[in-house]
Amino acid sequence: QLAYVDGQYLPMAEAMVPVEDRGLQFADSIYEVAAIFDGRLLDWPEHLVRMRRNCAALFISLPQSDAVLSHIARRLIAMARVRDAIIYIQVTRGTARRDHVFAPGLRPRLIMTVRRFDFRQRIPQQAKGVGVTTVPDQRWGRVDIKSTGLLANVLAKQDARAAGSFEAWFTGPDGTVREGGSTNAYIVRGGTLITHPLSAHILPGIARQSLLSLARGAQIPVEERAFHLDEALGADEALLTSTTAPILPVVRIDGLAVGSGRPGPITARLVELVHAEIARQTGW
Ligand code: PMP
Repeated sequence: QLAYVDGQYLPMAEAMVPVEDRGLQFADSIYEVAAIFDGRLLDWPEHLVRMRRNCAALFISLPQSDAVLSHIARRLIAMARVRDAIIYIQVTRGTARRDHVFAPGLRPRLIMTVRRFDFRQRIPQQAKGVGVTTVPDQRWGRVDIKSTGLLANVLAKQDARAAGSFEAWFTGPDGTVREGGSTNAYIVRGGTLITHPLSAHILPGIARQSLLSLARGAQIPVEERAFHLDEALGADEALLTSTTAPILPVVRIDGLAVGSGRPGPITARLVELVHAEIARQTGW
């Protein structure tokens, strides 16, 4: 449970940022979360690519090279002596006198934390499946940028948990299912895996990218298209993915059973493919 802030490696409780950090005052910052299995990073190059794209979207020029970022991450993982863990990375625009307008030349602040994470808790959830609760999407219009402005996600997930669900599913004004509060959303119909296309309305999940490529590689047909909540309620199967929940069957939407109300065969096959990929990359 270690942190890296501005060049220093510290115990989590001692890691601090100034009160005028723009990440704190304006959520003027982006973040990244990657999984570590058995001490090894999963899909690390893909996370670096996305992080750079997010920095560019905010006009933040990160001075550290990919090699330096990788070095810091690996050193933190080694120092924390973790096997299964999550690495959280945040880049803020930096510290400045509070003003919405940002001056050029601010020094971005790089933060990383590593914390143990028990991925095995997902195994019983994969066996049983989880429920989701739908909420109207009240987020801003550029949720493809992985910014730390997550208030709508926080409130949606809080509501979902209060309703006994694992996740919230955001629906658009037309009833389209976009994604979860911190996960991507899918349904299966007639053997085809269906998920919302990449757009400003969803975060391009790394687990999503990986799942679609594994599905295509296994000849499971994939459609990246919008689907309505009614279509999800009538689907054969549903599922979700993220870095911290690499794949979970969704068996209830707003308390109604999806398909048989139990994890289905396509999802089971995808769970196998995801586990095989994690094992291939990390030996987990
Ligand atoms: N959508 C949202 C809104 C998220 O916050 C996340 C996780 N940060 C995801 C999807 C899944 O992304 P990933 O697979 O990269 O964890």
